[in-house]
Amino acid sequence: MPSVPDEKTARVFAMDTVAVLTVYGKEAEAAIADFERELLRLERLLSAFDENSGVHEINSAQGKAVRSEPELLKIIAMSKEISLMTGGAFDITIAPIVRAWGFGGENRVPGEGEIAGLLPLIGHEKVRVDGDEITLEKGAMIDLGAIAKGYAAGVLAQLAAEHDIKGAVISLGGNVQTFGEKPGGKPWRVAIQDPLDKSAYAAVVEIAAGVSTAVVTSGAYQRYFEEGGEVYHHIIDPQTGYPSRSGLLSATVICSDSAVADALSTAFFVLGAEKSLEAAENISESAGWEIDFILITDEGKLLYTPGLEGMISHENKAYSMEMIGG
Ligand code: AMP
Ligand code: MG
Repeated sequence: MPSVPDEKTARVFAMDTVAVLTVYGKEAEAAIADFERELLRLERLLSAFDENSGVHEINSAQGKAVRSEPELLKIIAMSKEISLMTGGAFDITIAPIVRAWGFGGENRVPGEGEIAGLLPLIGHEKVRVDGDEITLEKGAMIDLGAIAKGYAAGVLAQLAAEHDIKGAVISLGGNVQTFGEKPGGKPWRVAIQDPLDKSAYAAVVEIAAGVSTAVVTSGAYQRYFEEGGEVYHHIIDPQTGYPSRSGLLSATVICSDSAVADALSTAFFVLGAEKSLEAAENISESAGWEIDFILITDEGKLLYTPGLEGMISHENKAYSMEMIGG
């Protein structure tokens, strides 16, 4: 009888989502226990709402410097860098506006004057990292919601390497991270959700066995509310303070660094197709990250970068596939 390597799956509620953790190999159970512990630790560090979190401490400092943990310093420094690279489309200082729209609490539509009053608090320069200290301008706040899950998935992939396992898939609400390979050595198949139908896929991306990478999707459909016949979603354009309207229904980024993939999927959703392509080219050149992406537009197009040729399958004929860039 051929031996079937152990496969273990666990579902954990953490970081405001249901994490699905699948591990193949001898130490699957131990790896999953480690993953769970780590997710809860990161949630406590990174949550904007937990009153004991490192982020909360920074947000309550009223302009004073706060000594922070190395991990938090690293994520904030990286976030500032990604803000610069995306012309501010990704910006963790968006927090006061996210709160004004009631995301994380009770949703509401803020008045125009209220938004105009909050816009001056937004900008990567409002948060400073000096050595091991972080200082936020008075009134400014940070929200790591657009990068925290990706960061966490990357940390779990590093932990996976410390165990005697063959492969793992970590799925954290729109963030999928592969590690190693599954038994049989078949490619990983990561489904991209159809933004218009939660029960269907728009496409499937194949990641070669043995490759550890992240596939991260940001979409208007992931969190929204309706009021007065209008739909308001959770990804805010930092230039306007309103839910972004860039002609996209979702943006998926494929990159070996999971935190980068997460931050960029949010940025690309705000930027729209043309500016995302420009930003990705600049970022690849300046930072050396290899970035591929998939954008689903409100005109029914599924745009993908040349690096995905042969890796992406057309699951849903409602979308017409088109290669962009290259
Ligand atoms: P994601 O699902 O990764 O696209 O992240 C969206 C979450 O990040 C939202 O629920 C907000 O908490 C926060 N957010 C919204 N707009 C932005 C933005 N432009 N830049 C950074 N974070 C944002
Ligand atoms: Mg994101």
